[in-house]
Amino acid sequence: MHNAMKHYVSQAIYFSLNNGLSDSAPSIKRHLSAMSGMYNDQEATEAMLKESDPLLYEFHDLGISETEGDLAFGTSIVYPGKVGNEYYMTKGHFHTIVDTAEVYYCIGGSGMMLMENQEGDWEAQLFAPGRAVYVPGRYAHRSINTGTEPLITFYVFRADAGHNYGAIESKGFRKIVVEQDGKPEIIDNPRWM
Ligand code: MN
Repeated sequence: MHNAMKHYVSQAIYFSLNNGLSDSAPSIKRHLSAMSGMYNDQEATEAMLKESDPLLYEFHDLGISETEGDLAFGTSIVYPGKVGNEYYMTKGHFHTIVDTAEVYYCIGGSGMMLMENQEGDWEAQLFAPGRAVYVPGRYAHRSINTGTEPLITFYVFRADAGHNYGAIESKGFRKIVVEQDGKPEIIDNPRWM
C-alpha cells in the first residue's frame, strides 16, 4: 500500500466538508497575479496587487493517469471576494478533447457555474450545497463565488480530457458576473470581442 496515484489501483482520499481541502494531497493555488488580465476592472486589479496578492482559489490535481477510461476528480475552493465589482472566479477552460463533460457537486458556499460554447450559447447554473451541476461537452466552464463563504465543489471528468485555457485567457467569457445593488447579476463582458 502506497500513496502513488495510478490507474487501475483502487484508492480513497479524504476531502474536508468544512474547507474542501485534502489532508493528504497538495492543492494548486491561484493568486490574483496569475489572473491579472482576466478581470474587467484593470484599475481595481492593479490597486489590489499593490497591497497584496490574494488567493482567489485552489484545487486538487491528484495526478490521475490521463488514460482513456480513467476519471479525474478532486475539489475546487473559490474564496469569497471581488475585484472591483466582479466576483472571484476560476480562470475557466475548455477541455482539449472539447466534447467531454464534467460534473460539479457543491459541498459548501454559493455561486454560479458559467458556461459558454464556441457557437455563442451560454448558460449559468446556481451552486448551493447539495446541487450537482452537469457541464455538457463543448462548454467552457468557470466557477464564480457570489457568496460570503468559500465555494467548495467536488468535480469529476474524463481523465484524458485536458485543459485548454488559451482561448479564455485571451478573450474571456461573453458574460461576467458582477455585484449590482448588492446582488449578483450576469452582464455582457464589455471587453469581450
Ligand atoms: Mn473542466
